[in-house]
Amino acid sequence: MLDASVSGVVPSPTLAINERVAGLRASGRDVLHLGLGQSPFPVPEHVVAALQANAHQKDYLPVRGLPDLRAAVADYHRRHEGSRASAEDVLVGPGTKELMFGMTLALDATLLLPNPSWVSYAPQAKLLKRAVRWVETDPAAGWRLTPNALEAALAEGGGHRILVLNSPNNPTGAAYTPAELEALAAVARRHGILVLSDEIYSGVHHTGAHASFARYYPEGSVVSNGLSKWCGAGGWRLGAFVFPRELRPLLDAMAVIASESFSAVAAPIQYAAVSAFRDDPALKPYLQRSRAVLAGVGGALREALVAAGLRVSHPEGGFYLFAELPESRHPSGLALCEALLEDAGVAALPGSAFGRPAAEPSMRLAYVDFDGAAAMRHAPAGVDAAFLAAHCGRVLEAGRRIAAFVRD
Ligand code: PMP
Ligand code: GLU
Repeated sequence: MLDASVSGVVPSPTLAINERVAGLRASGRDVLHLGLGQSPFPVPEHVVAALQANAHQKDYLPVRGLPDLRAAVADYHRRHEGSRASAEDVLVGPGTKELMFGMTLALDATLLLPNPSWVSYAPQAKLLKRAVRWVETDPAAGWRLTPNALEAALAEGGGHRILVLNSPNNPTGAAYTPAELEALAAVARRHGILVLSDEIYSGVHHTGAHASFARYYPEGSVVSNGLSKWCGAGGWRLGAFVFPRELRPLLDAMAVIASESFSAVAAPIQYAAVSAFRDDPALKPYLQRSRAVLAGVGGALREALVAAGLRVSHPEGGFYLFAELPESRHPSGLALCEALLEDAGVAALPGSAFGRPAAEPSMRLAYVDFDGAAAMRHAPAGVDAAFLAAHCGRVLEAGRRIAAFVRD
């Protein structure tokens, strides 16, 4: 018998909860799905039109990506972040997740992960037999990474380190301010570490004020972004990394891995993605509406949970809240989420999936269970309580059910 090993890694909790909810719904249960972080909004029409127009593209594309797309991604980063990137600094992949896997494989380094961090960084490291060092954050400060905590972790030494910093953040919704990024950058520079700045939620910063970490530490930052979140196209599987010139050897190594693993991203998707990264006038109202709706629904859910006695992060970008119960009769965060699903019909992921202690009664809520197309159509009239009741009722209902679950 072959001994197939994945080092004890289990199927990714985000994708597992999604399939589980689909099964429960198929069996007739009405589950409020706050488990998977998928954009509720449709892909912008001009990007869909570009995909339709390119359905005939059938050739393998260059491993590093379609030249026009690499140029469009670089131009996007120059426009939005004042980056100096050009097309040669960009690597395109089938989702940023695959590019992260390639980067972890290419480097023999320890991953420094603020706790909590997105579900897949640590399991990827485990699959590739790379070490992880969790860095504590302060729950009272919205679970943000502080320069002192980073300094303390780096002062321990221990070979090459990669800090993975994600802003706006999954699972907390925190968007780091320029001053916070600058202070963290000073520590990173002092130690000369590599930073993977995961900016996949940049376009859905709730006030549009996203700042890239690479502004403050250009020489050591690789910036990750893609179509999955602000462009509503998670299932299209397209992401890109932007490298500083200083890290060209890393790009080259990852291109070798790409050539021997996925070859190149699907051609029609790459042609369509050019229109998403371009400065198209249709994108501005699309993003403004997305942000207004997400800020409104995230804020309303937070209020309901705070009123129920939970400690809750501030939704500043993306579509997540991280929440901790003051106490729980359940032995673990996992048991808590199981009970929430069974008893209240609300799907959430336990904090332990993000690195929190197993016993901690914490969870991540993705406030995306609503009809994003309808919400987007009505958003220009204003996102107020009446709007939320009409268009985001299922998320508000989840807040009520969680409050009742905690009370009982
Ligand atoms: N980073 C974060 C923080 C995420 O939430 C996700 C989830 N999609 C990813 C990376 C991976 O995104 P993708 O592979 O779709 O680009
Ligand atoms: N990033 C999304 C989440 O955190 C789901 C997609 C994925 O995990 O690949 O829920």
